[in-house]
Amino acid sequence: MKQLAILGSTGSIGVSTLDIVAAHPDRFRIVSLTAGRNLELLQQQIRRFNPRLVAVLSPADADALKRSLGAGAPEIVSGIEGLIACACHADVDMVLSAIVGAAGLIPTMAAIENGKDIALANKETLVTAGSLVMAAVARKGVRLFPVDSEHSAIFQSLEGHRRRDVRRLILTASGGPFRNRALAELQRVTPAEALAHPNWSMGRKISIDSATMMNKGLEVIEARWLFDLPAEQISVHIHPQSIVHSMVEYLDGSVIAQLGIPDMKTPIAYALSYPERLPLDLPPLDLCRLGTLSFEMPDMQRFACLALAYDALREGGSAPAVLNAANEVAVEAFLNGEISFLNIPGLIRATLDNHQAAPLEHIDEVLRADRWARTEARRIINKSV
Ligand code: NAD
Ligand code: MG
Repeated sequence: MKQLAILGSTGSIGVSTLDIVAAHPDRFRIVSLTAGRNLELLQQQIRRFNPRLVAVLSPADADALKRSLGAGAPEIVSGIEGLIACACHADVDMVLSAIVGAAGLIPTMAAIENGKDIALANKETLVTAGSLVMAAVARKGVRLFPVDSEHSAIFQSLEGHRRRDVRRLILTASGGPFRNRALAELQRVTPAEALAHPNWSMGRKISIDSATMMNKGLEVIEARWLFDLPAEQISVHIHPQSIVHSMVEYLDGSVIAQLGIPDMKTPIAYALSYPERLPLDLPPLDLCRLGTLSFEMPDMQRFACLALAYDALREGGSAPAVLNAANEVAVEAFLNGEISFLNIPGLIRATLDNHQAAPLEHIDEVLRADRWARTEARRIINKSV
């Protein structure tokens, strides 16, 4: 019986994870759940999974939840301390880290420091603080399993092979909803169009990141830390069908890939149950019906965010944390109608240009770079309207 903490249980990844847990009650037990503001869904999850500890963002929400659950309520805590308490609960074996954005960093790092194994969906943790996180993983001897589908595919394609035989990693990307849209038209796309991903159903932030391909840029940085390879050995191919989830190319020219239908339950379940594979109630991959799998190189002008992420990775130190924070502000501003879709990379570039990258020795330096970038990106938006 594996005892789990689910950080971000009301999100897209959190809900898929709880579906897997519900289908395998003999394998998993929920110790703690955390959510931001979706109290209604959280309340249903508490009734269904009976956690010992629950965290929400605000103390007022914690009180409201307690009142509404009445006598049967578990302990309910709030704020960043609440998140940390859920991640570090003594009964927890593994933490599924699925908060969106840099907010996932502190509780994930706390869990590692407390010796918990991690199933990592929150890529921003590795983007902002990869060197510090991987050092803590090694120091504490915990296991960190990728949930991101591309990294799960690479993880699976590396199994049974020698790391030194790897020539490069090839991350696949769907190209999002605007892969074939005329560049001039992108100036006018609405948040609703950008949120409509062709293959995956996901949270709002990662859906916009997929449309700009910043998501792939963040994943390149995530791969750099997970698999300890430099940017030069990490390539991106656009693969509109999202069937080949990523590949590893070896020195002899062999390419090993992992394929499947685009459903996050597969990589989530593998991270939860490694090295076993759980039976999942998903339609099988029918390659004959699909007929064609196609691949193309990403256009770095159309997808300027992908180029920016490579630049930040090469610059190193605090640059990826600044890239990430500026992107979070840009996505929010786009969703609020404050900036256009094509202004997203411009805002991130301007923020990075004003930043002097510094080496990272402590998590506080990551948080400082993150805060600075948010203020700077906001300043640039306010100046330009
Ligand atoms: P989502 O927006 O659907 O859910 C986010 C969860 O985090 C919710 O439970 C929300 O209440 C909580 N939350 C949001 N802000 C918070 C804050 N400041 N403090 C505490 N909790 C907060 O997001 P998602 O699509 O499930 O993505 C979660 C993470 O997984 C992201 O880092 C994303 O990049 C990654 N990921 C998602 C997918 C996917 O298919 N959705 C695939 C790969 C990786
Ligand atoms: Mg992914």
